[in-house]
Amino acid sequence: MTIRKPLKGKVALVMGVASEESIAWAIAQELTRQGARVILGYQFRFHSRIMQLAPTLPHLISYGRCDVLKDDEVKDFFATIDVPIDIVIHAIAFAPARAFEHRVVRTKDEDFATAMLTSAHSLAKLMNAARKHMPEGGSVITLSYLGGVRVAANYKVMGVAKAALEAYVRELAVDLGPQGIRVNAISAGPIRTLAASGIPDMDRLLEWNREVSPMRRDVTQADVAHCAAFLGSDGAQMITGQTIYVDGGYSIIGVPRTP
Ligand code: NAD
Repeated sequence: MTIRKPLKGKVALVMGVASEESIAWAIAQELTRQGARVILGYQFRFHSRIMQLAPTLPHLISYGRCDVLKDDEVKDFFATIDVPIDIVIHAIAFAPARAFEHRVVRTKDEDFATAMLTSAHSLAKLMNAARKHMPEGGSVITLSYLGGVRVAANYKVMGVAKAALEAYVRELAVDLGPQGIRVNAISAGPIRTLAASGIPDMDRLLEWNREVSPMRRDVTQADVAHCAAFLGSDGAQMITGQTIYVDGGYSIIGVPRTP
């Protein structure tokens, strides 16, 4: 059987691997399977995990620490990249636990700032550095959630950050389009990961999505990774500025059938 390698010859920068459960890890693996070579950028607190995972990725080019809130680290990381990049995966989000504990009206300035800088503005910041390494253009994919367009229980300030992220996707698509760079978001259904464990009542959320979504099952990291690989491929050349839902159809439901 011939294995199709639609991403052969492409280089992907993947940001946001923290564990084997990370969506970014599934994406890195799928991009590799489809022929891409990968560069990993990670937060130093996950260094030991990355040391275990990185060597299992065939054709890995390099990996380096890159905290998006530390300008020097971002600069140093991009200075080590000496191959043209075709695909950028931005799978980064964070808000302090306190922001999920209180009512939304009590969101503190510093928690709002952390959530927005890490989860939304970092896309623009990374792209300002990455675009100089993308002479042939390419595809940028970030990860969003339904909470950016509708209220999702317990998502709070992160819903505000995802709304900003999706607005950034449109703004950056227009800004970078003339350079041949496409920018899209995948809005994924809930998946059990490290970041998701910070959202209170995640079990109930997963159960509800399973019961109500047309596809009647959990979304997996692999489901998201397949979509990311497509968006990174030349088959998606005229898709930009979009938020594409990989949620088993959950987002189309208004009034669900009683399970
Ligand atoms: P994860 O915890 O595996 O990944 C989150 C990543 O963000 C980690 O790798 C972490 O190191 C990184 N990060 C946080 N602050 C950073 C900083 N200052 N600098 C650099 N990196 C930083 O969890 P995940 O669920 O795989 O999350 C990836 C993305 O997918 C996030 O944007 C998340 O909001 C989004 N998403 C997740 C779900 C879900 O249910 N898990 C659903 C929709 C969207």
